[in-house]
Amino acid sequence: MIIRKAKLYSKELILPDAEMKFFDGFIIIDNHMHLREEGRLLEAVRRFTKLGGNAINLVNLPDYSVPAAGYYEKIYGRTLRIADKVRNELKIPVIVTLGPYPLDFFHFQKNSIDGLEAMRTGLYLAEKLIKESKANAIGEIGRPHFEYSPDRSDEFNSMLAEAFKICASNGVPAILHTEDLSKEAYDKLEETAKSSRMDPARVVKHHALASDINYKNSITLSLLATRQNTRDIRECKRRLFLETDYVDDPSSWKVIPPESVPKRAIFIRESMENWQELFSNLFRDTPIKVYGEESFRQLI
Ligand SMILES: [Zn+2]
Repeated sequence: MIIRKAKLYSKELILPDAEMKFFDGFIIIDNHMHLREEGRLLEAVRRFTKLGGNAINLVNLPDYSVPAAGYYEKIYGRTLRIADKVRNELKIPVIVTLGPYPLDFFHFQKNSIDGLEAMRTGLYLAEKLIKESKANAIGEIGRPHFEYSPDRSDEFNSMLAEAFKICASNGVPAILHTEDLSKEAYDKLEETAKSSRMDPARVVKHHALASDINYKNSITLSLLATRQNTRDIRECKRRLFLETDYVDDPSSWKVIPPESVPKRAIFIRESMENWQELFSNLFRDTPIKVYGEESFRQLI
């Protein structure tokens, strides 16, 4: 069914049920969303589901007002409660990604705690929750996205390799937070994944750039669901996700609003001749390859 533009961008974001049916069998997933208990939470996810979004990857959100001692127990606990709430109220699959965020390092250092050691406890707590089937992926892990001094890249890289080993032995993906990556940096990551016995396709570069699709490697790319990015990937054959990196701060809709992924799905469906190929990649093959069919059983 063709949906006319006038309807897509009208103030009224609700599509009649009959017109949402073309998403049947597809996993319209926002691959990077943060939610807060005191944020818009369900209101934000409803904006997403009303346009046909039907699955999210809920990524743990750092909060440096939480004391350094017991930090991960507290913030992981919040994420798990939010995931249950969304599942119960909106009946959609919620993938849960837990792990030590690279900037946590500075939070611990400020509190005179060894940053890398503390982050390692966060990594192993995430593994424990994965073993209990409470979480599905480790992330966002990696390296701070800015330069800092002294350079601790080697230590961050060795923790990343350790995380890949944990992912490999538990059969779960890793969601990466890093600086923008060069071709060489992607190659290096792929090598690290392989030497940790991890399938590089299950290593997901969050906030990848549209120009990254030109590099040859097997890392999965997750791009901001902007209209420009969507145009730039129209012919792309490598594994891709769309994401909003929504942070659920009631004073803004950043990074981009929560309904962006289904909006782009409608845009693809309505403006691209090869929409089926791109849909299969973004909204079926990639989510299944990365998170496993089981995670989306209710949709496919
Ligand atoms: Zn994020």
